[in-house]
Amino acid sequence: MGITLVQLQGLCASEGFPKFTAKQMCDWLYKKRVDTIDAMTNLSLAQRARLNEVACIGRHTPVNCQVSRDGTKKYLFMVPSEGTWRATSASKDAPSTADVARHVPTAGIEAVYIPDDDRATLCVSCQVGCKMGCRFCVTGRQGFHGNLSAGDILNQLFSIPEFESLTNVVFMGMGEPMDNLDAVLDACAVLTSDWGLGWSPKRITVSTVGILPGMKRFLDECQCHLAVSLHNPVPQERLAMMPVQKAFPLNQVLALLRQYDWSGQRRLSFEYTMFRGENDDLAHAAKLAEALQGLECRVNLIRFHESDEAPYKTSMPSTIAAFQNYLNRHGVTCTLRASRGQDIDAACGLLAGKNA
Ligand code: SF4
Repeated sequence: MGITLVQLQGLCASEGFPKFTAKQMCDWLYKKRVDTIDAMTNLSLAQRARLNEVACIGRHTPVNCQVSRDGTKKYLFMVPSEGTWRATSASKDAPSTADVARHVPTAGIEAVYIPDDDRATLCVSCQVGCKMGCRFCVTGRQGFHGNLSAGDILNQLFSIPEFESLTNVVFMGMGEPMDNLDAVLDACAVLTSDWGLGWSPKRITVSTVGILPGMKRFLDECQCHLAVSLHNPVPQERLAMMPVQKAFPLNQVLALLRQYDWSGQRRLSFEYTMFRGENDDLAHAAKLAEALQGLECRVNLIRFHESDEAPYKTSMPSTIAAFQNYLNRHGVTCTLRASRGQDIDAACGLLAGKNA
């Protein structure tokens, strides 16, 4: 699971299978979503026996589910923290038997299911922990423990009971998508290709703190929506919150984004968490409006969820409303994202896989 059609064709070539077998395997993996190789009944018995020697489906059910008062559900999955085979665009090789044997789950990651009237969104993780070290984020405090494979990412969708009801996926869980871009792009390819699930890219949003090389490649190779974590328009203040500002300053991120056309189907949004007394006054709103002037985008304000582990406080509701009004009056579409799953630590920045 998570392997693209081209990678499956590489596997078929190395095993001496006909090329069309790759398409048949895609159908079994992504359209019928079987959980054993033996269930791929239009493959010969010999082919299935050989596949069972060199591969596995990679489906594993969540080990825990916490349900919030508001219907949000947080799923915990165990994944291999290291050593699993990673399908990459550059590597068309199949996994070796030893690679498969190393697929031993040892770390916890979380995905959050968010039902909302006629929508149902799944927020997925792409790494175990995160390297980015944003000061307000519990995941960032865990440090980095490994990348997820495309299969580990897709498993978060495929193995929950609500899969059929999902309308949207956001890559806003644990980890920085541009720091594990091969796997994220492969997962998006499975979700949006006709040989995969065939979803519209409009149903998928990938977030980033603004890693320039990854963003450029993502924008060139993928049509899914992009969400950039901005959080502060003042460079020195942003640096104090987000170490990534040192390597990839916000002005360079915005300059890159201005090179792309945002008037079509693909949407650009900026995430802005409101921290009391830090970034929530009208002076910051004015700087933000100025920075985004003329860029087709929207700003999503997020209420900060206080935790013992982060040195920030939640903004007052009246402050948030004034900030939002200022942006909307100054030509920047601004919405306030509803807080969900706070009672089960499922809200933004609180995912930690700590039950693991
Ligand atoms: Fe990583 Fe996102 Fe947390 Fe920053 S906010 S540390 S990028 S998970």
